Amino acid sequence: MSWNELALNGRILVVDDAMENIQILHAALRGEHEVLFALDGAKALAMAHGQRPDLILLDAVMPGMDGYAVLQALRAAPETADTPVIFVTALSSPEDETHALDAGAADFISKPVNAAVVRARVRTQLTVKRQADALRAMTLTDSLTGVANRRCFSERIDNEWRRTGRAGLPLSLILADIDHFKLFNDHYGHQEGDACLEQVGHAMCRAANRAQDLVARYGGEEFAILLPETDAAGAACVAQRVLDELATLAIAHAVSPTAPLLTASMGIASLVPDRTGTSAALIRQADALLYQAKAQGRNRFCLTPPAAA
Ligand code: GH3
Ligand code: MG
Ligand code: MG
Repeated sequence: MSWNELALNGRILVVDDAMENIQILHAALRGEHEVLFALDGAKALAMAHGQRPDLILLDAVMPGMDGYAVLQALRAAPETADTPVIFVTALSSPEDETHALDAGAADFISKPVNAAVVRARVRTQLTVKRQADALRAMTLTDSLTGVANRRCFSERIDNEWRRTGRAGLPLSLILADIDHFKLFNDHYGHQEGDACLEQVGHAMCRAANRAQDLVARYGGEEFAILLPETDAAGAACVAQRVLDELATLAIAHAVSPTAPLLTASMGIASLVPDRTGTSAALIRQADALLYQAKAQGRNRFCLTPPAAA
């Protein structure tokens, strides 16, 4: 993707208490971007959360909540903390400019605005934002399989532990380990092994398809599937789908003592997180059940036993 493409077609939220200013900025940007607008700070915050703009053009001086207060509220909420903001204001002393930048604005444009300058500054901020987003996505993705990596998994399981715990909802974890994968590599070669891991990663994504499900590569040939708001029965359905998907892939494994095709074993832990514990308890349980599935003959899953009465 070229520099210009990175900066095009953003969703821009324009915030100003004067309709006339909104119209000027809208006219400057509408050829390249989707433009949303809000006439006061409270609406701006609601739209920033609901519509997730890529960039906000924010009037500093507004009745009620001014631009600085809006910026502070944006920075305080995790969903909007990284949304870049350009201040647009008639106050243009070096002190005003410094104040805006200190408050966390990415840039500063003086009124009366010039359309070409607005477009150029917006493009620059969109490019920076998209490069940062791409970099962050890279640090959270496993490059071989394209699924989430271990770092992403660790962040997510901790967040979901707290979130589902607060809501009193179940959280399930499937740890999956490919059976006899060392033998597979020894027989077919490491490159075939890598290609196989990629296919298995995709198969897991097909098996766990709700928006909040997360498939991650946990280690070499181990995958983790995190299933928020899912109980043990639901997680067992997903695990069965993984077994079915692998059977459909039908990757030959001529030297496996378990089956002539590539298989995996899984441990499924399910609980309603409690505030005193940590996600490590869930991982330990899933790992122990994975070990049990291996010991019972592989190509299967084992579940958390029902809690003792
Ligand atoms: P088990 O059924 O008990 O799980 O046996 P296993 O051979 O799968 O388990 P073991 O942990 O002994 O071996 C895991 C093997 O996975 C070792 C290595 O050859 C392979 N492996 C780990 N990471 C990669 C990788 O990134 N690419 C490839 N090609 N192979 C990998
Ligand atoms: Mg292993
Ligand atoms: Mg293995």
